[in-house]
Amino acid sequence: MAATSSSEDSLRRALADKQSTIDAHGNVIRQLKSSGASKSEIDDAVKALNALKLEKTSIENQLKASISGDANGSVVSRDAFRQAVVNTLERRLFYIPAFKIYRGVAGLYDYGPPGCAVKSNVLAFWRQHFVLEEDMLEVDCPCVTPEVVLKASGHVDKFTDLMVKDEKTGNCYRADHLLKDYCKDKLENDLTMSADKAAELKHVLAVLDDLSGEQLGAKIKEYGIVAPDTKNPLSDPYPFNLMFQTQIGPSGASTGYMRPETAQGIFVNFKDLYYYNGNKLPFAAAQIGQAFRNEISPRQGLLRVREFTLAEIEHFVDPDDKSHPKYSEVSNLEFLMFPRNEQMSGQSAKRLCLGEAVSKGIVNNQTLAYFIGRVYLFLARLGIDEERLRFRQHLPNEMAHYAADCWDAEIESSYGWIECVGIADRSAYDLRAHTDKSGVALVAQEKFAEPKEVEKLIITPVKKELGLAFKGNQKMVVEALEAMNEKEAMDMKAALDTKGEVEFEVCTLEKTVTIKNNMVSISKEKKKEHQRVFTPSVIEPSFGIGRIIYCLYEHSFYMRPSKAGDEQLNVFRFPPLVAPIKCTVFPLVQNQQYEEVAKQISRSLTAAGISNKKDITGTSIGKRYARTDELGVPFAVTVDSASSVTIRERDSKDQIRVNVDEVAAVIKEVSEGRCTWDDILQKYPAHTSASADE
Ligand code: AMP
Repeated sequence: MAATSSSEDSLRRALADKQSTIDAHGNVIRQLKSSGASKSEIDDAVKALNALKLEKTSIENQLKASISGDANGSVVSRDAFRQAVVNTLERRLFYIPAFKIYRGVAGLYDYGPPGCAVKSNVLAFWRQHFVLEEDMLEVDCPCVTPEVVLKASGHVDKFTDLMVKDEKTGNCYRADHLLKDYCKDKLENDLTMSADKAAELKHVLAVLDDLSGEQLGAKIKEYGIVAPDTKNPLSDPYPFNLMFQTQIGPSGASTGYMRPETAQGIFVNFKDLYYYNGNKLPFAAAQIGQAFRNEISPRQGLLRVREFTLAEIEHFVDPDDKSHPKYSEVSNLEFLMFPRNEQMSGQSAKRLCLGEAVSKGIVNNQTLAYFIGRVYLFLARLGIDEERLRFRQHLPNEMAHYAADCWDAEIESSYGWIECVGIADRSAYDLRAHTDKSGVALVAQEKFAEPKEVEKLIITPVKKELGLAFKGNQKMVVEALEAMNEKEAMDMKAALDTKGEVEFEVCTLEKTVTIKNNMVSISKEKKKEHQRVFTPSVIEPSFGIGRIIYCLYEHSFYMRPSKAGDEQLNVFRFPPLVAPIKCTVFPLVQNQQYEEVAKQISRSLTAAGISNKKDITGTSIGKRYARTDELGVPFAVTVDSASSVTIRERDSKDQIRVNVDEVAAVIKEVSEGRCTWDDILQKYPAHTSASADE
């Protein structure tokens, strides 16, 4: 859909060249006039200038089309498309702004009847695809979480977004969003911008998630970005914690938070879950539940909300063995991947084979890759358009310092590419953090068949010397020293032995400190061990269910002309798996006998577990089809006799004739994906009548 940036660049250059030619030509005309040239000479020059201006307009139009991706005029603009989708969703109660009669609250939404049905279908498939097929342990933990848990996880100190304030009104904005909007607006609307400037803004967009507060503030100043509503100046960016705080109990003595993710509930239960699993690794636990984030200025409808459903998996694995037994089932999959090198060098996402991405070291390990593959299959089965789904690797600064590798499943919608699933190898961070805070060892053991002589790395920080040198920062330096792996520690030892001191990066301090040889002792000792005790690594796929569903709505929506051609009708082409209702049942005309048959069919569908709806209003059959197409109902049964009826498929509008007592079985087979509509077409006689495509 989007124009290639090379054609956009060359159009920007052509436009700048044309403008300089026009300027030069304007000077020539002025000279002609001032030197008293003849009228015909001046007229000819003006004619030439007008021709140049026409050429410039034509380049401008091509550039506009190229930027908006509307080059052949066939693509409806993003905003108009979104408006059509959102109007339909709200009118048909897929969702409703929450507390609407009190003018609502930004970022809070209700799901109405079809929205609830779609959500419960998506969650049922999620349970099938992940919990059942991967044999996961499902848990359900409270939303209200005591402070100590979120202090240990780092959320109390670090779960922040960078905010800027309107210096006069105090209105708040997310700093990165303002910079993003500025760059996008300039790129789309400033046709006179040079190709170099356009490249700079595109680079800013590509590395936006990687910018620090200082860098964001500097860009906001450099580009003269002001408050969008008032044009007032903005404060420097500063962190705002996104958690909703509350009190647990009436005394006010115990602070709690509404959980910002479900994962912590799983981590704190690790010990019991590991035992439940027979003290065996790997295993995964899963949880579906509400998460709460006090987003600074939610503007993207269902995509950025303040309360949403998360479905999260924590797969615990031996850090020394991240192979996956079912890896070969996904290693041949090919889909759009966007590794960090491609992002940094301004390239676009490309189709890669997952197995190759692992063997080339692009994806860190098999287990992470396995989940990337499973997430891809999940989203594709739901009906997400594969051309508009990509897996984007996190940039270095975007990723937490402890993480081994992270990929986001991003889906393209009218709002651009949106992170819908985050898939991260978080190494041992979370379990270690809760072990340290709670004093309960969240570890796994591997028993050796024979005792093993092992060489153990012993790192002993000399707290007295470190305290003198680093005072309040001593604890973080000690933790960083103790967290060194073998290679890091032995490199440090070699440097300390030869030079007496070494520069050492402490991530939690975000700086480098000098370690002297009296501050730490590093050695290796031989020991006999009967088991190995270690903190498992965790690989975490985290699904924003609301985001996936909204993208699915956009990918499923289309319009087609009515039979008379006088109006455009809305259709959601949901696969039966997610359709809110699988089948509608209509008597062709209002008559007692047909209504009885309709009731009987509806009862048999319900008994077979197929959600269905009768429509016995006297409305024309065409209007009734249009109403159900707009809800994305894949099949409609029309009762036009007492013995056999027609079944119509929503997108092709094909109809077949089926005996009344076979209807439920046919609809069940096709809506549960055990056969396709094409298979059904082969088996049953086609029905053609005036009413078929009414
Ligand atoms: P995170 O823990 O920030 O990686 O978020 C996990 C997932 O939650 C993301 O991949 C999103 O799909 C979803 N998500 C995060 N924030 C929001 C929000 N404000 N509204 C809806 N979904 C969200």
